[in-house]
Amino acid sequence: MSASLSPGLGLVQEFVNTNDVEGGDDDFAEPAALRAWLVARDLAAPGDDFSAADLRRALDFREALRALLVANNGGQLDPDALASLNLTARSAPVLVHFDAGGSTRLESDARGIDGALGRILGSVHAAMADGTWARLKACAKHSCRWAFYDTSKNRSRTWCSMKVCGNRVKARKYRERQKL
Ligand SMILES: [Zn+2]
Repeated sequence: MSASLSPGLGLVQEFVNTNDVEGGDDDFAEPAALRAWLVARDLAAPGDDFSAADLRRALDFREALRALLVANNGGQLDPDALASLNLTARSAPVLVHFDAGGSTRLESDARGIDGALGRILGSVHAAMADGTWARLKACAKHSCRWAFYDTSKNRSRTWCSMKVCGNRVKARKYRERQKL
């Protein structure tokens, strides 16, 4: 099984990381920003329209995906996130598409937000099927939760960056121990 990050899963990672939780900086501040991001990645057509409600759906879906990545890093799976993902899956239907290689993938022929979220769902499903999904994790530092791809042999990576989060958490634990 390959441990390298596929383009589809890379896109899911990029999608989750449009929200910098720790920095308080969300790339999807308004529907036009969401549309530009999706169009640039062929997840939506330039003529597609995105409303404030569509933006809300994208944000809910994105944070529900992040909750799955927390679970991939040994955290508790949030039942609200599962409900939200199933709600997305119901309204962004995907189709089985047979490609020239003789295999199938999940596709969407819908327009707008349904098509965009359906295409991301297809990538999530493919990664779950090929076993690479478990390597996409949210950083264990709760205030960070940045999505990173764990290429370590035994899938033991916990932090998005040892320099940034790993050391910060370790330093805090060290200070707490000194106080005892
Ligand atoms: Zn981090």
